[in-house]
Amino acid sequence: MSAAALSPEVLAKYEPVIGLEVHVQLLTASKAFCGCANHFGSEPNTNVCPVCLGLPGALPVLNAKAVEFATLASLALHCEVRERSIFARKNYFYPDLPKGYQISQFDKPIAENGWIDVPTANGTIKRIGITRLHMEEDAGKSLHDGFSDSATRTYLDLNRCGTPLAEIVSEPDIRTPDEAFEYLTRMKEILLYTAVSDCNMEEGSLRCDANVSVRVKGAPVFGTKVEVKNVNSFRFVRLALEYEIERQIEVIESGGRVTQESRLWNAGEGRTYSMRSKEQAHDYRYFPEPDLPPLLVSAEFQEEMRKKMPELPEARRARMIAEYELNPKDAATLTASREFADRFEAAARTAKSPRRVANLLLSEVGGRLKALDLEQEQSPVSMAGIVQAADLLEEDKISSKQLKQLLDVSFEKGEDFGAVYEREKPQQLTDVSAIEKMIDEVIAANPKQVEQYRAGKKTMAGFFVGQVMRASKGQANPALLNELVAKKLEG
Ligand code: ADP
Ligand code: ZN
Ligand code: MG
Repeated sequence: MSAAALSPEVLAKYEPVIGLEVHVQLLTASKAFCGCANHFGSEPNTNVCPVCLGLPGALPVLNAKAVEFATLASLALHCEVRERSIFARKNYFYPDLPKGYQISQFDKPIAENGWIDVPTANGTIKRIGITRLHMEEDAGKSLHDGFSDSATRTYLDLNRCGTPLAEIVSEPDIRTPDEAFEYLTRMKEILLYTAVSDCNMEEGSLRCDANVSVRVKGAPVFGTKVEVKNVNSFRFVRLALEYEIERQIEVIESGGRVTQESRLWNAGEGRTYSMRSKEQAHDYRYFPEPDLPPLLVSAEFQEEMRKKMPELPEARRARMIAEYELNPKDAATLTASREFADRFEAAARTAKSPRRVANLLLSEVGGRLKALDLEQEQSPVSMAGIVQAADLLEEDKISSKQLKQLLDVSFEKGEDFGAVYEREKPQQLTDVSAIEKMIDEVIAANPKQVEQYRAGKKTMAGFFVGQVMRASKGQANPALLNELVAKKLEG
């Protein structure tokens, strides 16, 4: 099937409808219903006990920390938290599920009716509804590869059985693969800021199923949806949706009907494959979990959680835009992780001009990191080094040219800014007559620019400052230089 056959006109007739189901592992020390370690990467089948193995007679006891995290996440996602929610058994047979059922929540989940705001292509903000957030436990893992006899055997690692999860289900409000990408990005940010999960997609701490249908624009009802599974990066979610949207349109355009089914994303081939159709779909025979009482999340407890809530990414961005006069893009970079934003702000607040720290961090340092393809953590220049540099600039003790030179040395030698500055102690030219002499020369060499300045184009002063700065090899004291240039031009 080649989706490339579709013309833009045909594509434009249709509207995609997307809803996402996200499973996120909660960052508790122990599992949801037993004391086993909740730890990725342990020796297989070492973090197990009668409860998470589902041995007869073993009884679950709910982990209070998991409730805390689920409540915190629910509130951060603007959900209404139910004061009395119910655990339910979701029954199915699978080798990695020794109990024969997952403890989940069904018709009375812990939280409902939330939302996430996402930026859209046309610059507006769109609110994506969250239908529900419910608590459940994870299943184990089937290991199909990596053993000498993997051709004939599958191994089981049950360490993951009983890991606490929050499942977050969106309304079918998403209309483009880009919006889906943004929604996931915002959600991950919120979950990281609230520290309820590490959201590590490679380790499976965050997993996404993408539901998608298409309909002719203006049609009163949704089309038949397909669920795409196994999409383990946000980029792949976008690609899988793009593929699936075109595939469905092609089916309809050629007179067929979209089958309601689950499909698997194959990243290597960049396409989806049918996995099981609705006829083979599970009937989970949900019923209330008899071994657990209703989960009570009082208003007081919710209030306690609200107090624990850190400043969330969106609010933090808005505040930082105002406080440091940042543009939205720079604010997004600085708040990409809570830890980075914390380090930046802690440092910036000690500086003479926090805004200058932000600018240096993003432009001079950020640019050099980007050119070398380095992460922020690999920067030779520490936050303290950036603050020092910003203060030196602010006090005119170095010129921006000198700063650039010092940073170049920092990056060349892998030394922090402070060490380089101490050693090089760049000279500043503060000799008035020497600077004046250079200004005279530049003025003599550029009569046209002088004329423009005197005719009222005051911004021309910058041209002269730049020329003299260059002539002084970046050593002229900037404040003095500015003052003398103005005096000479006026005179
Ligand atoms: P199911 O009964 O198959 O679990 P749900 O109604 O619970 O389906 O929805 C599961 C997910 O699919 C939700 O995220 C929802 O927003 C999304 N969804 C539902 N209907 C559609 C549709 N027609 N097209 C795209 N997504 C849909
Ligand atoms: Zn256990
Ligand atoms: Mg459902």
